Amino acid sequence: MRNVVIIGSGCAGLTAAIYAARANLKPLVLEGHEPGGQLSLTTHVENFPGFPDGIMGPELIENMKRQAERFGSEFKSGAVTEVDLTGRPFTITVNGEKHETKTLIIAAGASARLLGLKGEKELIGRGVSTCATCDGYFFRGKPIAVVGGGDSAMEEANFLSRYASQVYLIHRRNEFRASKIMIDRAKANPKVEFLTPYVVEEILSPQGLVSAVRIRQTETGETRNIDLDGVFVAIGHDPNSTVFKGKLDMDENGYLLAKHGGISNIPGVFIAGDVQDHRYRQAVTAAGSGCMAAIDAEKFLEEHKDS
Ligand code: NAP
Repeated sequence: MRNVVIIGSGCAGLTAAIYAARANLKPLVLEGHEPGGQLSLTTHVENFPGFPDGIMGPELIENMKRQAERFGSEFKSGAVTEVDLTGRPFTITVNGEKHETKTLIIAAGASARLLGLKGEKELIGRGVSTCATCDGYFFRGKPIAVVGGGDSAMEEANFLSRYASQVYLIHRRNEFRASKIMIDRAKANPKVEFLTPYVVEEILSPQGLVSAVRIRQTETGETRNIDLDGVFVAIGHDPNSTVFKGKLDMDENGYLLAKHGGISNIPGVFIAGDVQDHRYRQAVTAAGSGCMAAIDAEKFLEEHKDS
């Protein structure tokens, strides 16, 4: 019987592990299908406090993992396939193995949607990005594209125009999901050029860094290349919450609902990081919420010592 099982090994899960381990709770961390989470897919991280010269995402994650292990966290690889939250102890199944736990911290994260193009994933950190706040600064004075037609795409196009010399907003339809005010703002921005209805067919990277995209007009079939240094994919995120469907409260997009920090609708189950956050999605906010969830779990165990 575990005191705490943590689902997810990104910033939120690892911070929860550090706090739970230092509270002597010997947490078990289930690493999930993307060990290290979204940071393990990035290169330079320049906005995580404490690293004035920046740090590579995978190195930051590795440091957090070592820190969690140092205080007694245990790690197991594999994605969770089944959870039983109907009563305490909770049962979590991973790789066919069942784990019983008095408390559960869910830090399963969210995955940024990608376009599904060849080489796209490998180019993350080499010109392809899913986070304007994180990576915009690297594209000072350079042309870039934002792909998508929702509020995120509009917001990112405006934000990125502070740095980039030119922002191409590429969207597959002439209609947008984004709100009118966000579209108007992007359209009024002299640095943002709208290209619709266009899809990105290929990201060109002859030297291993993004140098152009080939786009196709969906009505005429005409294709052309645009030289640029960055492609920001802003087509939405999917929270990794499928396994909790019908078991925990979530919104219509699948984000788990948490109150007062990370408290779920089931006593003893706590939620941290991007699986409950579609607004901030930052490493530092995920880490902060992981800390809160671990403190809540510790207090819960203290209050339910005899039950
Ligand atoms: P979204 O509203 O789901 O929009 C996703 C966009 O990406 C859509 O335009 C969609 O095109 C396009 N898309 C999806 N898959 C694609 C693919 N494979 N290839 C090309 N294009 C693709 O996602 P979001 O913009 O991230 O917004 C998510 C939620 O957060 C929304 O509720 C939004 O209002 C909210 N949000 C609010 C703000 C704000 O108010 N400041 C800022 C950001 C986000 P189609 O339309 O053709 O399907």
